[in-house]
Amino acid sequence: MSLYIFVAKQVWSRLQQNSVSMVTEKKWEALFLLSFLFVFLTGLAPCGTLPENGPSELESASNGVLEQQHGTAIQTQNRANYNPQANLSVNFHTPKQSLPPGLMEKLEEIPHTIDQFNKKFGLKRDINVEFLSQDTKYGIYCDLDQGLICIPYDDLLMSYDDLCEIEDKVNEAQKRKLAETVGKSAQVSLMHELSHVLINDFDLAVPGIEEDACDDMAAYLLANCLDDGKSNEECSDLLEAWFEVFLASATFEETTPHLTTSVPGNMASLSRLIPSQHSTSMMRAYRAYISSLTVTLLHCHPDDIDQVLEDMSKSGCMLSPKDDCPNIRSGLRSFRAWDKISVSFRK
Ligand SMILES: [Zn+2]
Repeated sequence: MSLYIFVAKQVWSRLQQNSVSMVTEKKWEALFLLSFLFVFLTGLAPCGTLPENGPSELESASNGVLEQQHGTAIQTQNRANYNPQANLSVNFHTPKQSLPPGLMEKLEEIPHTIDQFNKKFGLKRDINVEFLSQDTKYGIYCDLDQGLICIPYDDLLMSYDDLCEIEDKVNEAQKRKLAETVGKSAQVSLMHELSHVLINDFDLAVPGIEEDACDDMAAYLLANCLDDGKSNEECSDLLEAWFEVFLASATFEETTPHLTTSVPGNMASLSRLIPSQHSTSMMRAYRAYISSLTVTLLHCHPDDIDQVLEDMSKSGCMLSPKDDCPNIRSGLRSFRAWDKISVSFRK
């Protein structure tokens, strides 16, 4: 309306500059012109007011760039459509096997992460996480029909044994630390399985191999659940634990040596890698390592990222700065992509 009033005042003052007689003579003409302007500008009003509270409000309505570019049709399509009553929950069955000191203590931190997930994200249906004793042929897995994520203690013990075995001699304090590492890694595994559920239930557009996408999405979900507004230390720590577990697993993986030495041009070696839907443990370890560094930069101003990466390279905290820096940048782009994909289940 303010634009209409402004134009009306302009027209009116121009009429007033003419002689009184002219105003008198042409008052019907002037009134007609004002009426026409009123109708015309009222019709334009929605477009006129958009810049004042348009794009920023549309964007903060959670749907971002797509809606700014393509209007309300996509905004409606992408609007969160979770069930407000549905929740993620966890249940710890009493382990039949004895667990190393430190493992259960770390697992007990999981309900806090789950609370945070329920605050920040929605689900289509209740999903239950069960920590249970019995060995299954699947290891850690999700049952999409039942809405169930199963994490057997046996599987965690295997990771613990791998970690102990790659160390030469492990004292009690070190053993406890390794048990804690496994406990932390279970949180990331849980988020990986939950990613399968979200992709399935919300029919998310995920190009490429779903298993790899779930590894990235696990880091994204955790970073949101444990966001500290700074360097996401806790999330980075969990992802580093995941990295260590995969690295230990890769040490005992038959295919790993072939990956570095004899795969190129060797179809027999390559065929060993193909049946697994997952990349090898070494590849997953590297992805986890890149994610653990990427989350520390999520609150970094884009103008500062070059400098921070350079500092990180010099500090020796990277495995291979030449490879790691571009992969961390790629990781940051991946997080922005998940920001867009997650609009359908973000609260
Ligand atoms: Zn998976």
